[in-house]
Amino acid sequence: MLENNRIIIALDMASEEEVMALLRQLDPANCRVKVGKELFTRFGPQLVRKINGLGFDIFLDLKFHDIPNTVQKAVAAAAELGVWMITLHAAGGADMLRAAHAAIADSEHKPLLVAVTLLTSLQEDDLVVQGVQRSPLEQVQRLASLAQECGMDGVVCSAAEAGELRKLLSKDFLLVTPGIRPPGDAAHDQKRIVTPAAAIRAGSDYLVIGRPITQAREPIEKLARIQQEILDAG
Ligand code: C5P
Repeated sequence: MLENNRIIIALDMASEEEVMALLRQLDPANCRVKVGKELFTRFGPQLVRKINGLGFDIFLDLKFHDIPNTVQKAVAAAAELGVWMITLHAAGGADMLRAAHAAIADSEHKPLLVAVTLLTSLQEDDLVVQGVQRSPLEQVQRLASLAQECGMDGVVCSAAEAGELRKLLSKDFLLVTPGIRPPGDAAHDQKRIVTPAAAIRAGSDYLVIGRPITQAREPIEKLARIQQEILDAG
């Protein structure tokens, strides 16, 4: 159920043992997990199958961005792996997004397709260098609208943008937000952090949270505290 299961734990660990040690403590009914580029490049589909076998919904965050035919085949392959959610870059264009959608139209298992709009590491100066004459927020809004038109299920965005996007996009279009820190937690390398409660109030559907949980002394208790904060905010 969405209300109680909005947290996606980023498994940004360097070893399979560390991943398994954490997963053994977690209940797949209480959280989902994210496998990103580092883990996937190191341990590949085998680890994804193993995590899936434990019953966890997997967010495969590989941010596909290529010609439509290649992305279509990559999305089909991810669907075969049984993952729950996949990312791709909205900047890959309408044909690429539609090809991704077509890839799973007839498949039995349909992962959610979520588009990355503008990487949060990019700022106004970077857009100027790329010849884009819009503000980062305008660019995010434009790409999110494109993603919605092309049949995507949602976008990854910063919680700071979630409020504006919620106004622009349909109610059931998913907003998936990283950069989350419970009150008092270290920011690490995140620049603009938002608390779980504030992200939910801004309209986020799923919160991607890594180190605040994975590096906690008691990850299960930390997860439970954040879930309570979300419920209180909802
Ligand atoms: O440990 P932390 O909570 O900062 O982890 C956040 C996760 O979300 C990491 O896997 C990071 O790569 C990812 N992410 C992010 N900001 C984005 C996109 C993805 O932090 N804009």
